[in-house]
Amino acid sequence: MSPLCQRPFQSNQFSKSFDAFADYGLIACPHCGITIKGNVDSMHLSHALSTQEEAEFNIQHPASPLQ
Ligand SMILES: [Zn+2]
Repeated sequence: MSPLCQRPFQSNQFSKSFDAFADYGLIACPHCGITIKGNVDSMHLSHALSTQEEAEFNIQHPASPLQ
């Protein structure tokens, strides 16, 4: 989940040989574009959840009361 927009997304890890143009160790949020550190030995492809998947996520992970 992105620490900036607080929205969930999915990411998949691939080995370094998968794509020479990838930013290894960085996971980009598909919603706001913030990059999060991941496994530096892998590249990460992220994608947003579907509307239904995100709704289910929000039911299971209610928003923090911190404002
Ligand atoms: Zn985001």
